[in-house]
Amino acid sequence: MKEDFNSLLENLKKCEICKEKFGFQPHPIFLGNVNSKIIQISQAPSATVHETLKPFTDQTGKKLKYEWYKIEDDVFYNPDNFYIASLAHCYPGKDKNGNDRMPPKVCFETWIKRELEYINNKIYILIGAKSAKMFFPNESYNDLIFKNNYLNGKLAIVLPHPSPLNIKWFKDHPEFMEKRIFEIRKIVKGVLEEEKNDKFETNTKGCLSK
Ligand code: SF4
Repeated sequence: MKEDFNSLLENLKKCEICKEKFGFQPHPIFLGNVNSKIIQISQAPSATVHETLKPFTDQTGKKLKYEWYKIEDDVFYNPDNFYIASLAHCYPGKDKNGNDRMPPKVCFETWIKRELEYINNKIYILIGAKSAKMFFPNESYNDLIFKNNYLNGKLAIVLPHPSPLNIKWFKDHPEFMEKRIFEIRKIVKGVLEEEKNDKFETNTKGCLSK
């Protein structure tokens, strides 16, 4: 018998698959429900989020929520709005050079693929090169950012990583902050605000079959 979504999430909360590899207790971080309008998938929680146990409570989150989406916390953390997940649900620790370790692939195969099967989202937002590569392995990351993409017949937006350390990409691509972010913000707000929802669906109907 197929598990239900709540049992899946209960088991995910207790997951310790990577405990030995990390060398510390993993803290799976995710938020949302089966009707979340937007599935947002980033790379992995930061060390700060590992402590706060709440996604995007770091500098990256500030930029994403307040400067890019321009939404308040009560909107972002409303599970009817966002299903917040990442390629690895847990902060993976540092490698020997002091950089954050790569998100363990086992998390995507074990959890995220199954979570995505249940959620009745309207759109996807993929954050960073690794998330983009996972869902669009044959496409250029930069091309994906500057166009609307489609995944499972739904609009899929790709964002550059909002980390404050990601300085060079924004220097090389000023058009993101000058133009593309306005388009993305409009799409996100259209999905989130109910009265604009019907309009959003009508406007994109012709594109959803890809
Ligand atoms: S990263 Fe994923 S697979 Fe690894 S312990 Fe956390 S929830 Fe489990």
